[in-house]
Amino acid sequence: MQENIKTPNQRVSPGPFDLEEREMRELGYKAIDILVDRWISLRDKDVWVGGTRSEMEEMFRESPPEEKSSAMEVMTQSVDEVLTRSARVDHPRFFAFVPSSPTWPSVIADALVSGFNVFQGTWLESAAPSQVELVVLDWFREWIGLPRSAGGILTSGGSAANLNALVLARGEIDHLDTAVVYLSDQGHSSLERAARIVGIQENNIRMIPTTKDYRIDLQLLNRAIQQDRNSGLRPMVICGNGGATNTGVVDPLEDLAEICEREKLWLHVDASYGGFSVLTEEGKRDLRGIHLADSVTLDPHKWLFQPYEVGCLLVKNLNLLESEFRVTPDYLQDMDLGLEHVNFCDRGLQLTRSARAFKVWMSVKTFGMKRFRMAIQNSLDLVKEAEAYIRKSNSLELLTSANLGIVCFRINPSGYDLDMKKLERLNNDVSDDIIESGYAMVSSTRLRGEFALRLCVMNHRARREDVLGVLKAMEETAQRLIL
Ligand SMILES: *Cc1c(COP(=O)(O)O)cnc(C)c1O
Repeated sequence: MQENIKTPNQRVSPGPFDLEEREMRELGYKAIDILVDRWISLRDKDVWVGGTRSEMEEMFRESPPEEKSSAMEVMTQSVDEVLTRSARVDHPRFFAFVPSSPTWPSVIADALVSGFNVFQGTWLESAAPSQVELVVLDWFREWIGLPRSAGGILTSGGSAANLNALVLARGEIDHLDTAVVYLSDQGHSSLERAARIVGIQENNIRMIPTTKDYRIDLQLLNRAIQQDRNSGLRPMVICGNGGATNTGVVDPLEDLAEICEREKLWLHVDASYGGFSVLTEEGKRDLRGIHLADSVTLDPHKWLFQPYEVGCLLVKNLNLLESEFRVTPDYLQDMDLGLEHVNFCDRGLQLTRSARAFKVWMSVKTFGMKRFRMAIQNSLDLVKEAEAYIRKSNSLELLTSANLGIVCFRINPSGYDLDMKKLERLNNDVSDDIIESGYAMVSSTRLRGEFALRLCVMNHRARREDVLGVLKAMEETAQRLIL
C-alpha cells in the first residue's frame, strides 16, 4: 500500500531546480577535485589573500541574473573569484589569531550533512543524528571530567556557547541591574558581549587585572566581590580562562572554583581556545580544576580539527539547561516523544540546526584518539621550540613563554636601543612584509599596552621548519629593514 502512494521518479516532470543526473555528478566530482587540489597544494600557496572594499565592489557588485547558466561554469568561476580570495587559515604557516585546520573526513561529513539536509532540532526529525550528538557530547564531558549529570549542546561556536552559559548563570536572578559578572582583563570579548546581551549593566562587568603571568589576580577578584556585596550589588558569575586567546594562559581554575563555592557564584570556564588540550597530559595539568565548573565552553572548530562551524557548551547540571531553554508551542506538539528523546531545540537558541556532531563523529572514528592527541601535542611541542629559538635569538625578545600553543614575542634587535614607537613600527613593518610575501602569517596583540607579536600553532600540517622558518624570516626581514 505504501508503494502505491509513491510516485516513481522518472514520471515526474522536471522542476525549476532539477539538473540532469549526469550534470549533478559532474558538478559534485569537480567540487571534490577542486577541494583535493587545494588540499595537496596548500603548502605552496600564499597564506593570505585579501583585497580592499572598493576592489571587491568592483569585482562582485551585480544584480542577480534572471536566467539560468551552466552550473559548472558558475561553480568554477565562483570558486576562483570568491573562495580563493580569503586567508588560508589552514595553511601550515598560518599562525595568526586562532588557526583552524579540519580533517578531510570532517569536511566531507559537512558536505554530506548539507546534502542530507538533516534537521536536528527535534528527535522526531533526526533520531540517529541526535543520538550521535549525545554520544559526542558525552565524549567531551568525559575528556573534561564533568560528572554524569552534565550534558550540553553543540553551537555555532564559542561565542554562542558563552552567551548560553551566561543565560544559565543569570538563572533566577530577577534584579539584573545589580548583577555583576567577573572576568579577567584577558577574558574573551565574546564574554563581555554575552554579558551585555543577557542584560548586565555595562558598569557591572568587572575586568579583573591579571598578575605578572597573565592569570586573574585572585586577591583583586576577592576584593571586588566583597566591595560589590558591600555596595548592595549581586555577584553572579566568574568567567575563567581555559586558555586565554592572547597568551594561552589558563586561570587558576581550582581557586576560582573555591571562590565560587564559598560565594555561591556560577563558575563558567571559557575553554574555547584551550579546552581540547586536555587530551594531552600537559593540557590536563594546565587545565586542572576545569571539571569543577558549572559550565564549560569548547570550540571543536579550533583544536579538534573540525571545519567551521561547531562550538560546544557543557553544563554540569543538564536539567538547568533544558529548563532554561525549553518552550513548547502547539505546532511542535508532535515532537514530544518523552524525556529520553532529546530535542536539541530545548537546549539552546536554535530550532533549525544542522548535524554538527556528525563531522566530529566521522573524523574521530576514522583517525582514532591517538592521532588527535598526537596532533595537539605537536602544536604544544612546536611552540616550545619556537620559545627556545626566541630565547636564543639576538633580534627577538620573548614576552610570554609557550602556553598551550601560543608564544608572544617582539622583534627587538640587540644593540639598537629602539624606543617603544620605533619598536612598534619595526614589528608592524616586518609582520606586514611577511604577510604580503605570502609566506606566513602571524598576528599582533597588546600585552599591558605594549605591542606584541603572537604566534599560535594549531595546525596538524605545521612542521618544525614552518615554525622556525617564520622566526628566521622575521629576523632576516628586521635586519633588512633596520639597515
Ligand atoms: C575563539 C574564542 C571565542 C569565540 O569563539 P567563536 O567560535 O569564534 O565564536 C571565545 N573565547 C575564546 C577564549 C576564544 O579563543
